[in-house]
Amino acid sequence: MRLNREEMAELIEGLEGRILITTHKNPDGDAVGSSLAWYNFLKKLDKDVTVIYRDRIPYFFDFLPGVYDVKVLQEIKDKFDWVIITDVSDPKRTGFDAIPAEKSIVIDHHVTAEPFTDYSIVEPEISSTCELSYYLMKLINADFIDISVALPIYTGIYTDTGSFSYSNTSPETFEVAAELVRKGVNPYFVMSNIFERNRLNKFKLLELVLRTLSFALGGKVAHITLFRSFLEETGAYPEESEGFINYPRSIAGVEVAVFFKEIEKGSWKVSLRSKGKVDVASVAKRLGGGGHRMAAGFEAEGELTEIKERLFKELEVALEDAYYEGLSQKGNPKEM
Ligand code: 5GP
Ligand code: MN
Repeated sequence: MRLNREEMAELIEGLEGRILITTHKNPDGDAVGSSLAWYNFLKKLDKDVTVIYRDRIPYFFDFLPGVYDVKVLQEIKDKFDWVIITDVSDPKRTGFDAIPAEKSIVIDHHVTAEPFTDYSIVEPEISSTCELSYYLMKLINADFIDISVALPIYTGIYTDTGSFSYSNTSPETFEVAAELVRKGVNPYFVMSNIFERNRLNKFKLLELVLRTLSFALGGKVAHITLFRSFLEETGAYPEESEGFINYPRSIAGVEVAVFFKEIEKGSWKVSLRSKGKVDVASVAKRLGGGGHRMAAGFEAEGELTEIKERLFKELEVALEDAYYEGLSQKGNPKEM
């Protein structure tokens, strides 16, 4: 059942019993931020809360309060009365085959979200699950939003908006950020923890990945690839490739950037980024994934050449759609 903000706030405030919080696999700043913010906030409400992830937390989020309370498990054996799943639009994304909870809640902001829990709130026009969580927490009790809550909320907003630069950054996003800074968040502290603790291994990995840079569809698509052997060769962690996709996206004339990551032999994670004209969420959805208009992804099994062929066919159609969308909107669009 989809709930509005007031209904969701009331539901969460009244939760009783054992509460589990989880998020998506390969957790990013919004996933870690939203789950830890809810963990710290609900503890202040004297609730019995546990946070479990499927995948380990990238080291650059280790400054967030509550991070060492998170359990990383392959499988959830304990039973819970409630589960709150943040930043997840599809049950597969949690990485767990099953979550043993009586009732379930989703708090999310993906345009491709399909209802899969008992209760959900999904607002695709909001920058991040963290921003949405902040609005809900204010409805519950603003007094409990102390620094242990404000810091993870700010971090999730900061990372999901590309440091307040992507098109999902609204005037309200800045207002929330200002309130969080007033509560004691230090923007430099957040930035330097996330972006200024790079290991040299990351740059060795970047060097190998950038050598794979190639183009498709007349230069409108730029793609890079990370083979498993690159990680072994450089000693880099998979999460240290975060942000690499911004290099192909930054190239003049490119409309869509693609990052192919080999997870295991024959198993790939594909990230898509648009410069705005192409809706990559719908492309990802057609290939079994999801996301947002400007940032989306999917998982694929098989040979890389076949995955590329399937994806580039979809992107060709999407580029045409974007061209005609431009035609109907502007009457006389620029060549794209
Ligand atoms: P990233 O490329 O950074 O992993 O993800 C970009 C966006 O696409 C995120 O909002 C993420 O939730 C979404 N996304 C990435 N991979 C998948 C996927 O396999 N399935 C779904 N449903 N969404 C994905
Ligand atoms: Mn998010």
